Amino acid sequence: MKDVLMNTYNRLPVTFTRGEGVWLFDDQERKYLDAVAGIAVCGLGHAHPAVTRALCDQAGKLVHTSNLYGIENQQRLGERLAEMSGMDRVFFSNSGAEANEAAIKLARLWGHRKGIDTPVIVVMENSFHGRTIATLTATGNRKVQAGFEPLVHGFARVPYGDLEALHTAAGNLKDIAAVLVEPIQGEGGVNIPPDDYLPGIRELCDRHDWLMMLDEIQTGMGRTGRPFAFQHHDILPDVMTLAKALGNGVPVGACLASGEAANLFGPGSHGSTFGGNPLACAAGLAVMDTLEGERLWQRAAELGAGLASALGEELAATDGVVEIRGRGLMLGIELDRPCGELVGRALEEGLLINVTADSVVRLLPPLTMSDAEAEQLTRQLTNLIKDFLSGK
Ligand SMILES: *Cc1c(COP(=O)(O)O)cnc(C)c1O
Repeated sequence: MKDVLMNTYNRLPVTFTRGEGVWLFDDQERKYLDAVAGIAVCGLGHAHPAVTRALCDQAGKLVHTSNLYGIENQQRLGERLAEMSGMDRVFFSNSGAEANEAAIKLARLWGHRKGIDTPVIVVMENSFHGRTIATLTATGNRKVQAGFEPLVHGFARVPYGDLEALHTAAGNLKDIAAVLVEPIQGEGGVNIPPDDYLPGIRELCDRHDWLMMLDEIQTGMGRTGRPFAFQHHDILPDVMTLAKALGNGVPVGACLASGEAANLFGPGSHGSTFGGNPLACAAGLAVMDTLEGERLWQRAAELGAGLASALGEELAATDGVVEIRGRGLMLGIELDRPCGELVGRALEEGLLINVTADSVVRLLPPLTMSDAEAEQLTRQLTNLIKDFLSGK
């Protein structure tokens, strides 16, 4: 095969040709249980009939016009997202990184409006916010940044989950305009901050007139057991970004804002050719209908709790398991050693998993997974982990 594709991924030796629910089928018709769901994208599983129908119907009517005109599906999806989140206004993009770019631009407008010439956004160690130049600067992982210097000005970094560090930053830096943070770090290793962390950030932001900006690209759309992860607390962010599961595989992202932050952009200050087009928003609307109609975040909470306890029981006596953690269907099993090779071993047995931060097995299965499928996942995965840790 000619190397026509730029060498940006180490791809596994498998090609899928169709999917159904939690199952993927390769070009030999071999079946795989998908506990990654396209990295938290296919929250409703593969080829969900409601999404398929919405896409086919919309493709037959109108795929694209332009943001120069009214777009009914965009208006409706915006209303639905605002209602479910409590946020006021939405800007639609085509990816997570672009949603974060919009958030970063809002933070800078906010800073300038307050008379700060060089506004600073506080970001976290081990964070992930995307691969554009600004979002890779915001990302707290040198591997993502290396080679792409010069990075962008206007970011300061503190440890994740550490309110004291934010207090200290507040004392040391006078130009802070916003804090950008994931409610649970995904790529960073399924890191769950202390319970008072997000409420504490909210309080600090209120006190200093900073924007509280949540990157819910991975945690949003029901995955953690609430529609949005911030809803585990009694708070509302100023800015929230979404993408991944919003279109169940159709590229669509969103930057939502509440209060004054919702009115920072004016005509000409931001835009996107494809963002919020009729087809992408048809997918988003089908996702919203299904998520809300079946209250799938509750299913995620139930199933996630069951999975975590089953995994805990199975692995309780296994040396080398450091911690099993997660919320809803965003689960991490931290081992005491690098375990990237588990991905290939699982693949051979018809199971798709992900390993992040070198030593954390990450599970992000569809919210529609059945109890029997969850049991199969537990059985296969715990056997794989036990064999791996015992050196087999
Ligand atoms: C995946 C992800 C992104 C980037 O989204 P893209 O659609 O790949 O640009 C940003 N932030 C978080 C938390 C993510 O998980």
